Amino acid sequence: MNKLMKAQTLAVHGGARRDDTFGAINEPIYMTSNYRIPTDGTPVDWSGTESNIYARNRNVNQMVLQDKLCALTGAEDCAVFASGVAALTGVFIPFLNAGDHAIISEVCYSATNLLFRKYLPEKYNIEVDFVDSTDTDAVRAAIRPNTRLIHIETPGNPTTGISDIQAIADLAHSAGALLSVDATFAGPINTYPLRLGADLEIHSMTKYINGHGDSLGGCVLGRKELLDKIKEIALVNFGGALSPFNAWLISRGLATLPMRMKQHSRVAMAVAEFLEKSPAVRFIWYPGLESHPQHSLAKELMKGEYSGMIAFDIRGDEAIHQKFLNELKLVTHAVSLGDIESLIVYYDKSSDKLPHYPKIFQDGFFRFSIGLEDEEDLIEDLQQAIAACGLQE
Ligand SMILES: *Cc1c(COP(=O)(O)O)cnc(C)c1O
Repeated sequence: MNKLMKAQTLAVHGGARRDDTFGAINEPIYMTSNYRIPTDGTPVDWSGTESNIYARNRNVNQMVLQDKLCALTGAEDCAVFASGVAALTGVFIPFLNAGDHAIISEVCYSATNLLFRKYLPEKYNIEVDFVDSTDTDAVRAAIRPNTRLIHIETPGNPTTGISDIQAIADLAHSAGALLSVDATFAGPINTYPLRLGADLEIHSMTKYINGHGDSLGGCVLGRKELLDKIKEIALVNFGGALSPFNAWLISRGLATLPMRMKQHSRVAMAVAEFLEKSPAVRFIWYPGLESHPQHSLAKELMKGEYSGMIAFDIRGDEAIHQKFLNELKLVTHAVSLGDIESLIVYYDKSSDKLPHYPKIFQDGFFRFSIGLEDEEDLIEDLQQAIAACGLQE
């Protein structure tokens, strides 16, 4: 596939395979766990991922999705997993050995947080420093002689803080470490971490890539030499393989990602501008707003599409926050994000995650994932919920 084609064209045509049996235009779903293997005396490579043997090593619908993701990002290779967390461990397990040191964004997904605060240090003797990765100097200061992996999230979940991928990639490489970037919040378009020097790019495909809230999935993108190791260790031998059906669903979702992201971004910008002006709002972070602490970096990285993720808080006590959630009619109170419908979740003061976030977040806040609804209807829903809480609109 010609890498100079535009994202929406690549999302539609990338990875397409013809069905030579019946001529179907859509990729059939290959619901098979086994493939026939040659009987010509070639030895069976039980852990091999270069041919179809068994659906955990490689399966046809996985391959189509991997090829589409490579076409879209220009990555040399890709591995898809049963969930975003399986993709994350698919990076952490193969590239960290006992006694190694890792640097992790202080703002990160809950499983990443728990893996590095508890399981990897306790069970595998991995040394860890959590740092504010939006501050490149803090990353530099944390580097040790045994640092082997720097893992950042940008935009960070849930704060939307933006990290300087290129500067951190340079730091990682001069220390002999790898840089992995969880770019789930922006999706694999507009920002291309691999082109900025990252070694590995990770997405929870459950979110924007699939986009329809009906499948879990994760992917890792990068150089073939790194992906070979990931596939052999994490995919075949830790076993988090993506099912053919879910791979097919996610390929179908991915085909419309660039146009969905335009709508998510446009609507989120309108909603963010509304919230920023509302006297009911205590604070808001959205990378597209000039008031966002890393707005100029976001402008450079996100090419004017700032995705659909907003972090904000309203004034008032816990009861008012609960009432606000209850009064919303279009917006659903649910975890996850990047869905066709708008989802909101509240991080209340009892959450043990709050101390890891910037000070303004520590009194509680909402993570708001803007769906594909029209901005007028969403703003009206917010307005009526604010009014029902007795707050000034
Ligand atoms: C959701 C999420 C994950 C985990 O993905 P799952 O598909 O839920 O396993 C990892 N990183 C980020 C940034 C996420 O938002």
